Amino acid sequence: MWSSALDWEETHVYDHRKLGRELDLFDTDPLIGAGLPYWLPGGAIVRHSLEEYIRTVERQAGYQHVYSPVLGKRELYEISGHWSHYSDDMYPPMDIGGEQVVLRPSLCPHHAVMYRSRSHSYRELPLRMAELGAMYRSELSGVLGGLTRVRGIQLNDAHIFCTLDQVADEATNALALIGDAYRAMGTSAARYRLSLPGASGKYVAAQDMWQRASKVLSEVLDRSGVAYEAVEGEAAFYGPKIDIQVADHAGRESTLSTVQVDFYQPEQFDLHYIGADGSKHRPVMVHRSIIGSIERAVAHLVEHHGGAFPAWLSPVQVAVLPISEAEEPAARRLRDRCLGVGLRAHLIGAESGSLAARVRETRLVPYHFILGPTETANGAVALRLRDGRRLPAQPIDNAVTHIRALVEGHNTRLWTD
Ligand SMILES: [Zn+2]
Repeated sequence: MWSSALDWEETHVYDHRKLGRELDLFDTDPLIGAGLPYWLPGGAIVRHSLEEYIRTVERQAGYQHVYSPVLGKRELYEISGHWSHYSDDMYPPMDIGGEQVVLRPSLCPHHAVMYRSRSHSYRELPLRMAELGAMYRSELSGVLGGLTRVRGIQLNDAHIFCTLDQVADEATNALALIGDAYRAMGTSAARYRLSLPGASGKYVAAQDMWQRASKVLSEVLDRSGVAYEAVEGEAAFYGPKIDIQVADHAGRESTLSTVQVDFYQPEQFDLHYIGADGSKHRPVMVHRSIIGSIERAVAHLVEHHGGAFPAWLSPVQVAVLPISEAEEPAARRLRDRCLGVGLRAHLIGAESGSLAARVRETRLVPYHFILGPTETANGAVALRLRDGRRLPAQPIDNAVTHIRALVEGHNTRLWTD
């Protein structure tokens, strides 16, 4: 993976498709098909790190993770409303044993059915059901090599089943998780948008429902203090949403994260909980995604950082560079030490070229550990950071412990004093 010709420096505008290929992150092949990317080892590490981050913060925020199937019967989507409002984006059904089965266009219907499968007391609410799951969109023209228009999507999804009184707090908490994630990823939103229904017929009818849901979301936005713009015609077919927009290398905006309020699907699936009064009540569904689809998030981060990811997302975090062959045994021990504490370290020996050439070749790696005869004799390491800073030689223990703390804390700074 070190042999790639890194010609990205010549272009100041980063295109994630080009970088993804050059940095061996992901690619596509006409034989697999357009809009169906595969992830190479470096990209798989970035993806895995994001998924691990998301699962951890969701667990801490009281979400419970589930798995649900990527297929469902046509009837499921007729009930959810997707069949009549969203069929243009869905794949045609497959006939299996006399039944029609569809690749799912979203996870909501499965989660609604899973909620319905057990009875729930008001004491269990808000019930936060999360899944990093696949969904499928019938894109006619997948752009070859890209992650932004794909036919299979890994969505960081969750549905919060709650009372009407709990909706504002849940939506506010989701916005806070989104803010935290953007800081950890070293990026920021281009714009917050309150997406309302438009004049077309793709929205479910129910004036009262739209008004109530839109009012809650605009109050949440006002309370959170972010500037936003209300745009008609961008809502989901079942309800309004807050969309967090990011911009690509050409300034084009797309939605990464979203928080939606839905009174419709709970009605369609006849969901309920038992209230304090002992009778049945209808919950509200809050749909939310912190980093959106993994594909779009990685496309955005590749472009935003030009491949120089925050250390916790970097495919390789530490490049161990012995000055000569004499330091190779010490370099191997140092690499193994890093691997042992969970840091992703690569050893690039003197046979690969001069020190300067090896530093250049690994310039997207956040940390360079340089080992010469003096450092080796003293159990020390000279540390260079990706941004060009050179730190004085220091005990190996210090360097490894400090970097590990920065990585585990999802810190975007390369070094702190
Ligand atoms: Zn949903």
